[in-house]
Amino acid sequence: MAKVYDVIIIGSGPSGYTAAIYAARANLSVLMFQGYETGGQLMQTTDVENYPGFEEGILGPDMMEKFEAQARRFGTEMLTEDVTAVDFNQRPFTLTANSGEYRTRAVIISTGASAQWLGLPSETRLKGRGVSACATCDGFFFKKKDVAVVGGGDTAMEEANFLTRYANHVTVIHRRDSLRASKIMQDRAFKNPKISFVWDTEVAEVLGDEEVNGLRLSNLKTGEESTLPVQGLFLAIGHKPNTDLFKGVIDTDKAGYIVPSEFTTTNIPGVFAAGDVTDHRYRQAVTAAGDGCRAAIDVERWLEAQAEAERSTEGNEAGQERRPLRMNRTRNNEKPILTAGKMAELRRESRELRA
Ligand SMILES: Cc1cc2nc3c(=O)[nH]c(=O)nc-3n(C[C@H](O)[C@H](O)[C@H](O)COP(=O)(O)OP(=O)(O)OC[C@H]3O[C@@H](n4cnc5c(N)ncnc54)[C@H](O)[C@@H]3O)c2cc1C
Repeated sequence: MAKVYDVIIIGSGPSGYTAAIYAARANLSVLMFQGYETGGQLMQTTDVENYPGFEEGILGPDMMEKFEAQARRFGTEMLTEDVTAVDFNQRPFTLTANSGEYRTRAVIISTGASAQWLGLPSETRLKGRGVSACATCDGFFFKKKDVAVVGGGDTAMEEANFLTRYANHVTVIHRRDSLRASKIMQDRAFKNPKISFVWDTEVAEVLGDEEVNGLRLSNLKTGEESTLPVQGLFLAIGHKPNTDLFKGVIDTDKAGYIVPSEFTTTNIPGVFAAGDVTDHRYRQAVTAAGDGCRAAIDVERWLEAQAEAERSTEGNEAGQERRPLRMNRTRNNEKPILTAGKMAELRRESRELRA
């Protein structure tokens, strides 16, 4: 029969690896599906300067290599593929990937969220070299520089306002002639003297060889093209949580983020969730890692409670057999070793005698 893991972790970002480190160190058998985007979102960035423990900062991919090595050290098995289907209807749960089916007592979903990009080749080429999807992460690198933010929702306004702490000037570029953001966020942005707006416009190309030095803009109403000299471009056009696989099975909010029932538990007992897949607010490596730790501890305690419950059920079943044994103690009070079959035979004999 196929091996049943104690826990399978889906996803290899900071939350998945941290969950693996904790779960494997707690002596659980752990399998991780790293997914085709092994290492998660931080593989797309250069310097990470806000993760504690790296006082000089560290490149995103180097950091994720360290996370992986630490998780491997404690015995986590890893597969570099995506989970393509899950069956949470009965325990042990079954997860399917290209290489086959895998069974597990518990699952941690740490599939993260994907930032939405414009899809321009020039944008992809300059990711981490002036193009970013996270102002909290990268704003610091744009001290006294001119930057642009693309988007018109609350996140875009929040990012624009945040960036004015560092940047010389922030230009918000929006496809429409009005914002989707809440009134309070709009007011804050309109009042900020370091923010200006370019309406009805999209980015046609990100300019620069090694680093961003400008944007080619296209006015959607007039078709007119212009150049905006900036050193940074921040995309704030949304994030998509990677939860399609769990649609209709795991409770999510309207945007698709998993809504934990309590702590890191989901609506399915034995299935836990951690990291950006549950978090549209903080979206940081350190919060994702913290969440992975919480999920692993929750799994450990849940498995322990399950084992305890199984032991007490077995005890009760055995107890039904033992009860008559106490009644049938020998004269010298030794416990006779009686099987269930022998007990049934004795009961039948006793009934026959009484009859
Ligand atoms: C450009 C950029 C720069 C950033 N810079 C910083 C920074 O400087 N500091 C900071 O703290 N944060 C930064 N962040 C945010 C940070 O990367 C995230 O908060 C963090 O990675 C979230 O971790 P996670 O484990 O929840 O998910 P993710 O990192 O998103 O990882 C998700 C994992 O799930 C896997 N996966 C998805 N679906 C499946 C499936 N079906 N089967 C198997 N695996 C699957 C993927 O392959 C991936 O490995 C940045 C983000 C971006 C986009």
